[in-house]
Amino acid sequence: MSRQDYEIVMGLEVHAELSTKTKIFCSCPTEFGGEPNTHCCPICMAMPGTLPVLNEKVVEYAVKAGLATNCEISKNSKNDRKNYFYPDLPKAYQISQFDKPLCENGYVEIEDDNGEKKQIRLERIHIEEDAGKLNHNEFGGGSLVDLNRAGVPLIEIVSKPDLRTSSEVEKYLRKIKSILEYIEVSDCKMQEGSLRADVNVSVRKKGETKFGTRTEMKNMNSFRSIVRAIEYEANRQIDLIEEGGVVEQTTLRWDDVSGRTFSMRDKEDAQDYRYFPDPDLVAIRLSDEYIENIKNSLPELPESRKARYMDKFGLSEKDSKLLTSSKYLSDLFEGAEKICKNAKAVANWILSDISKMLNEKEMEADQIPFTAEDLAKVIELIDKGTISSAIAKRVVVELFENPRAPEVIIKENGWIQISDEGAIKEVVLKVLEANPQSVADYKGGKDKALGFLVGQAMKETKGKANPGMLNKMFLEELKK
Ligand code: ADP
Ligand code: MG
Ligand code: ZN
Repeated sequence: MSRQDYEIVMGLEVHAELSTKTKIFCSCPTEFGGEPNTHCCPICMAMPGTLPVLNEKVVEYAVKAGLATNCEISKNSKNDRKNYFYPDLPKAYQISQFDKPLCENGYVEIEDDNGEKKQIRLERIHIEEDAGKLNHNEFGGGSLVDLNRAGVPLIEIVSKPDLRTSSEVEKYLRKIKSILEYIEVSDCKMQEGSLRADVNVSVRKKGETKFGTRTEMKNMNSFRSIVRAIEYEANRQIDLIEEGGVVEQTTLRWDDVSGRTFSMRDKEDAQDYRYFPDPDLVAIRLSDEYIENIKNSLPELPESRKARYMDKFGLSEKDSKLLTSSKYLSDLFEGAEKICKNAKAVANWILSDISKMLNEKEMEADQIPFTAEDLAKVIELIDKGTISSAIAKRVVVELFENPRAPEVIIKENGWIQISDEGAIKEVVLKVLEANPQSVADYKGGKDKALGFLVGQAMKETKGKANPGMLNKMFLEELKK
């Protein structure tokens, strides 16, 4: 049998750090970074005798996430201790939720590889605390623990094993990221670890109804590596089965440099964790009214923004969908549109040059280093004739490379458009003189020759000549 005879089955456990100001059980800041062990107190350092108090915002944010992903919200919920020892977990247990998670039975919708709508079911969303971080000395001088992250609130979103291809996984994760960004419960900065996924992968022969044994790749935080890791791991499992072996249920680590997975440990079962209700915390009881209030406070979600863009700005469905695929892109669009009032131009710049740069630089929309004001300014400068679109493209590149005010970029590079009639005429005459063949071609009926001449004039002026004026002037001179 070949690889084509197998189906890949995947389920994701997505961890998102919540953007509450303070930690889940104490009042330390959740801010990323900081000198090691400066964002902690006796509670998140697990000193004996300290008591946790649940941060109400954490419950609110998790309920928001549940409502935005079509979950049922549990009115009776609780926190449990998940016991395991690891040096970045000073209590030797993590406060999490076991059998009564806050949210259950939701779904998010994606497009499958044939463009059909597909629901990916969510088993649950629960709240828990993050662990600290170990900093391993690369020269073998031991490891240091930093507890700044210990106690930062997380939600864990667990999907059913409904995903079938790496591109479905990518779309699902992008959808989750976008929803959490829209409802503003997490900044989802993958490069800072605010959003990370455990990817469970198994394979089975097509037509088989039972699932195969899965492996779990931990803490993946880039789309690119997730797709690579899935391809690698699925092929590894298929090859293993084809050789007559069996897949062991293990926890794996993906190594992006070697492009391989490595076994970290045998998979634990729930019973290994000895879950029990945390006696230091009271049960979580939510009223209908509380849930209803949160429902009413949910901000506009991508679907409705998309409809608004089509309706109000006359953008195509495809463009509206792309713009709203990320809250950061969507906010950039709305911010710039508000200033320059040129929705079509803003949409075009975002979907062409800016998207191209993001792709080339392997950046996500949240890493765009300039503001909506900057983008609006670039468009205004084109509209006013200060710069040509050709120059504007270079300004956008500069905004990525070395962000500063567009006017400053233009001034420093001497990129102001030449709109002086005398100067334009000089270039036109020079180009006409240097290209007698094109002139003859044009006069002989080859309209294309005009484009060539304009192109030469642009080259001559390093893209700074006003293209409208150039065209007009060439036509006038060629008529003579
Ligand atoms: P845990 O990893 O904590 O033991 P679960 O058993 O609930 O938790 O499963 C975790 C994830 O693994 C879920 O996202 C689920 O969809 C996925 N999963 C379960 N069985 C399989 C399977 N056979 N193949 C792929 N993914 C699976
Ligand atoms: Mg797991
Ligand atoms: Zn603390």
